[in-house]
Order: sequence, then structure tokens, then C-alpha cells
Amino acid sequence: MTLHIPFDNSFARLPENLFSRTVPTPVSTSRLLAFNDGLAEELGIARADDDAMAEIFAGNRVPDGAEPIAQVYAGHQFGTFNPQLGDGRAILLGEVVDRAGQRRDIQLKGSGRTPFSRMGDGRAWMGPVLREYVVSEAMHALGIPTTRALAAVATGEQILREQGPMPGAVLTRVAASHIRVGTFQYFAARDDRDSLRALTDYAIARHAPKAEGPLGLLESVIARQSQLVAKWMGVGFIHGVMNTDNTSISGETIDYGPCAFMDGFHPARTFSSIDRGGRYAYENQPDILVWNMAQLATALLVLEDDRDSALEGYTRAVHGMADQIRTAWEQVFCAKLGIAEPQDGDARLVTDLLTLMANQDADFTNTFRSLSEGTLREQFTDPAALDAWHELWQSRIKGEDAPIERMRAANPAVIPRNHRIEAMIEAAVEGDMAPFHALMSALQSPYTDPDDPALASAPTPEEEIEATFCG
Ligand code: AMP
Ligand code: MG
Ligand code: MG
Repeated sequence: MTLHIPFDNSFARLPENLFSRTVPTPVSTSRLLAFNDGLAEELGIARADDDAMAEIFAGNRVPDGAEPIAQVYAGHQFGTFNPQLGDGRAILLGEVVDRAGQRRDIQLKGSGRTPFSRMGDGRAWMGPVLREYVVSEAMHALGIPTTRALAAVATGEQILREQGPMPGAVLTRVAASHIRVGTFQYFAARDDRDSLRALTDYAIARHAPKAEGPLGLLESVIARQSQLVAKWMGVGFIHGVMNTDNTSISGETIDYGPCAFMDGFHPARTFSSIDRGGRYAYENQPDILVWNMAQLATALLVLEDDRDSALEGYTRAVHGMADQIRTAWEQVFCAKLGIAEPQDGDARLVTDLLTLMANQDADFTNTFRSLSEGTLREQFTDPAALDAWHELWQSRIKGEDAPIERMRAANPAVIPRNHRIEAMIEAAVEGDMAPFHALMSALQSPYTDPDDPALASAPTPEEEIEATFCG
């Protein structure tokens, strides 16, 4: 039985200089590693047999109704503008309108070279593919907007990476769209106002139908990104490569390269092996997003006939973002302490706890989870240092309605820990997918204690992962 995907493509109708028509490069063999039945159901995709699906999601057979394209974009990479990027190893097969009426992109990642590959091989290896699969699905289960993973396929090819030859794989990624800040920057940098206008009109219709003009679009992206970064902070997530080409207009988390969830809490923590200056450290993420929105504002301003008089509105939108993030951050972290509505002094209560955690290398996830379990002191090597804070917190939540339930719904018991992901990848490379399934199953309900308590444990010092790689 062949796989039916109900494509309804719209991006491929836009002016041709927004993309390049490119087909996936076939691979020698294809073997289905994982398929997301729940997501397929949402998308109206009926499951076929594994071999038929593997052929499609490896890029060996272009399904009926697909119009494969590679999208063009630019972007600031670690603060430096690169005017020419684009899907170097990804191909958008097309879009479907899901059962809820939302338009979603279906994209292959690792499907071969495109006109935007530059020096790259257009491929991905199994490690980053399964890592993105697990982490993006975990983000979704945590209630954080994100691209999704529909399928992972092993290609039977050897991919040359720093570690040596690695087994190749292709990820099928589903997104509200793949339009990035960098997509606007590409046309703005060329002063190609016709293409920029077509892109902007399209983005407004797809993502912000109530927005008025480019400024309205900017304001809606700022609102979404403010919520998003507050939620990342709330689960100790470090994106790792917040370049403007990895910042989505839809407000979804996108590009799971060297991302990581923190174990022990350190505000200046980075994991990415290429982030030597700490630009994308945990505590810098809100400021970086404001900076990225300033780049979006700069690009959209190109559309204004009278830029001098338009500037004020754009400036106000960007300058107002810090307050939006602070409000969202307080909401997120107060819920973690069991507080429904933040009041004066609550932010201090949060930051005081975070300081205690940082001083004692307390595990981010388990410390917050322990608040509702009565085991807070166990998370600290010097629990006496907590006493004053604990008393203040207790008196603050005395009047709160059901604080324990609120905390349990805000503080996950299980997150995709780096050492678990690495172990899962090692097993998968050896052909053992059992750790992948065990991890996926626990991460489906992250606010429930996992059957295997080891999945909720912080790593021992020997297990701890110091650095992550882009793959
Ligand atoms: P990233 O750092 O993952 O956001 O990627 C930055 C740029 O490099 C994007 O234009 C990617 O399409 C491109 N790229 C990353 N890896 C590869 C690869 N293996 N082959 C070709 N292009 C790549
Ligand atoms: Mg990227
Ligand atoms: Mg990437």
C-alpha cells in the first residue's frame, strides 16, 4: 500500500526567487527507525507498510502531490551577517492542512545537496536525527511550541563527520512553517522589495491574519517569541545556536542542533562546542531574542515608504519586548513555585532560589520538582542555606489555591537528559532501538513520574555530558 499525504502546497506558488525546485538525492537503502503515529493522525496521513514509508521519508520516492523545494534565507550567525544561506540539507516536500485546520510544512532533513549546500554534504547522521526526534517531541509534550518529528529513516550510507564515518539518516520535520527571521533578511539585504512584500503578505496570512502590515507582523512575532523564550527558561533549555536563521516567525522552537537541557543549574551554562564566547548561554537567551527581533524589524522596515516616520513604531515594538519577556518569565517561574498570579516580590523569591541552586550546583529539573514532593533539602549539599528562603516561600504560598497541583503541572519529572540521549544514540547505532522507545515513552508524559526512576535521575559526574555538537 502506498502512503497518502494530502498535500495542499502554497509556498511553492510564491515568486520563484524565494526557493529553488530541488528533489531529494536517493540513498542506497532505507530502513524506518521511527514513525510518529499520533502526529500522522493529526496530519491526516494514513500509515502504510514500513518499507513504503521508509522509501518516501528517505527521499527515494517523491510522494504524489509533493512539490519539493529548498527555501532560501540569510542570517546572522553568532552575530555576523551571512547574506546567503538556505536549506542546504533540507527539502520541503509540501504542506498539509491538518485536522485542526492548521497549515503545516512537511520537510525532509538530511536528504542530500541543494543549490544552498555550500561546502556541506547535504546529509545528517543518525545521532542528531534521533536527538532532534526525541527532544522536539519532548518539547511538545512539555507544552512548548516546537517543530515536530514525523519519521526517522536510516539510509545505509556512511556520513563523514569529525568522529569518523557515521551511519546516515533522514528526519521528517513538521513545522507551522519554516519561515525565519533570516528569510526576511535575505530579501531586505538585496533591497528586493517585491519579494520581501510577497513573503511578508504570505507570512501575515499564514501566521498573523489579524496583523496590520509589516509592523503588525513584527509585533505578533515578538509576542510569540517572548512566550517561547520564557518557556525555554522554565525548563532549563539551552537552544545553543540562536542565529537569526534559526528563529522562526511562527514562534516554534526550531533547529535542534547543539541544544541541551541543563542538569546542574548555572546561568552562564553553554553546551555547544562552537559557542566559545558564550553568546547563546542560558541567561543570555532573552537578550539574544530581542536582538534577533531588532534584525527582523530592520528587515521589515525596508518595506516602509517613509522609513523615518515608521522607525518610531518599530523601535517601540522592539524596546517593549524586554517587558513582555519579564512578564512571561514571572508567570512561568511563579507557577513553578505554586503561585498563580505574580505579585511584587515574587520575582525576588524566584531569583533567590536560582542563586541558591547555582551556588550549590543543584539539579535544575529535580530541584523544582522536589518543591511539590517535600524533598527540596535533598537537592542541596548544604540544605541549611535554604532555611530562610524556605520560610519566605511557605508563607507566600499559604493563601494559594492548590499550589501542589500547580507545581506538579509546571515542574516536569522527566526531561531529555543529555547522558540519556547519548546512550540512546549509541544503542541505536548498534541497531538497538529499545532505549529510544523507553525514552520516548517516558517523555510523552513528562509531568508524571516515570516507571523507571533512573530516567528522572541527574547524571553522576562521570555520566555528565560537557559539550554538544551540531552534527
Ligand atoms: P544551522 O547551523 O544548522 O542552522 O545551519 C546553518 C546553515 O548551514 C544552513 O543554511 C544549513 O542548511 C547549512 N547546513 C548545515 N549542515 C549542512 C550540511 N551537512 N550540508 C549542507 N548544508 C548544511
Ligand atoms: Mg538552521
Ligand atoms: Mg541545524
